[in-house]
Amino acid sequence: MDIKTLVIVGIVMALAGALSMATLFLTRRVYLGFGYWTFGTLCRMLGSLLFLFRDQLSPWLTIIFANTLLFADIVLIGHGLRIFRNQQRPAHSGIEIAALLSFIALFAWFTVMVPDTRMRILVWCIYAGAFMSWTVFILFTRRPAWFGSGDQFLALALSFLVFATLIRAGYTGFYEKSQFDFMTASGQAVFILINIGTTLLIVLGQIIMNAQRIEHDYCLVQKALEQDIAKRQYLEMQLREDAIRDPLTGLFNRRYLNESLQREFTRCRHNGGSLIVAMLDLDHFKHFNDHYGHEAGDAVLRAVGHLLQHSLRREDIVCRYGGEEITIILSETTLAVAAARLDAVRQALTALCIRHQDQELPPISASIGMAVAEPIDLTPDTVLARADAALYLAKQHGRNRIEVNTTAANPPKLRLFT
Ligand code: GH3
Ligand code: MG
Ligand code: MG
Repeated sequence: MDIKTLVIVGIVMALAGALSMATLFLTRRVYLGFGYWTFGTLCRMLGSLLFLFRDQLSPWLTIIFANTLLFADIVLIGHGLRIFRNQQRPAHSGIEIAALLSFIALFAWFTVMVPDTRMRILVWCIYAGAFMSWTVFILFTRRPAWFGSGDQFLALALSFLVFATLIRAGYTGFYEKSQFDFMTASGQAVFILINIGTTLLIVLGQIIMNAQRIEHDYCLVQKALEQDIAKRQYLEMQLREDAIRDPLTGLFNRRYLNESLQREFTRCRHNGGSLIVAMLDLDHFKHFNDHYGHEAGDAVLRAVGHLLQHSLRREDIVCRYGGEEITIILSETTLAVAAARLDAVRQALTALCIRHQDQELPPISASIGMAVAEPIDLTPDTVLARADAALYLAKQHGRNRIEVNTTAANPPKLRLFT
């Protein structure tokens, strides 16, 4: 295959590359720097095209300008890469301009003043080899998070080209010593073939790099979005918790009590299950506050809340009704079992050891009134009122005890706890 045919193959390859890059550049999302690569591929195509007209046009166009265009492509690969890697204004642009100008000067010298094909090839090899090595160096030393297989692919293609350029320099300088015409020197054909092949590999690497960076950014956005959703869900949960919890005791608040009581009452009516409501009130708490201070009283309320949360079933709903009064909703259980459980709580309260400001507070006690929802209860409030009445009875009967409010329809089968 003669060199002219190879040059035509090279033009077709560079055209395919330039068209692919330009299509992506105009129609897809590309990062800064990709435009330089596209322009570089166009330069390569144009430079190769000019080679074809060596016999028809001036050597200024077909040798000096054509080779400058090919070298410009190599400079633009590195320049675009530095911008692609987030350097908005890449340093070393002065070096690139100086290299291009000196390249033109040397090529003009060895074309017009002292025509020497071998020297031109050597100049080409030194300049192109140096700039490609610089690009490989950037690729391997500055590795951003999205450094992926596309970058490695480009580095590999360029490294191979550097290697081929070194061999070409050696071959041209030491082996092909005699004056020869580039367009007919068969030894150069293999290097042109390597150049054509790597042109496509470089374009492919650049396209993959751009696609992988899009993918990387998409993953980052996705991750941020997921984190945002999780954060929002957590905040919503926190808000909901704040809306239904009493901050001092950690128990549910009055609002939650109203919601739950209504829900449990309706459920009990429709499914025929049981519903027991208990009112718990600390004994002589006003006196306790007056004697030990409000803060000590708060410490007691906190300890009582903690004990109630941990000594009842998960399904029992414990709410701070207000002040030192606590309402407990127990469902799906019998009155006897509920009373036994609450009496255990009452006993645990008397055994509670509370410390406040390095001082051990005296034991406390609580009175409890209970009521079970019955057919005569038309609303949940009547069950609550009957539990309150039982609590009043417990206070009257000497405190630190449980009383159960029962109606004629549900006669007491319980022993009273004291
Ligand atoms: P009884 O045995 O009859 O229930 O006597 P008592 O002193 O507990 O009577 P009452 O229920 O009238 O008093 C409630 C007291 O609870 C009044 C107030 O000082 C105290 N209290 C209410 N809310 C809080 C609170 O958030 N913190 C503290 N430290 N004390 C509170
Ligand atoms: Mg009280
Ligand atoms: Mg009270």
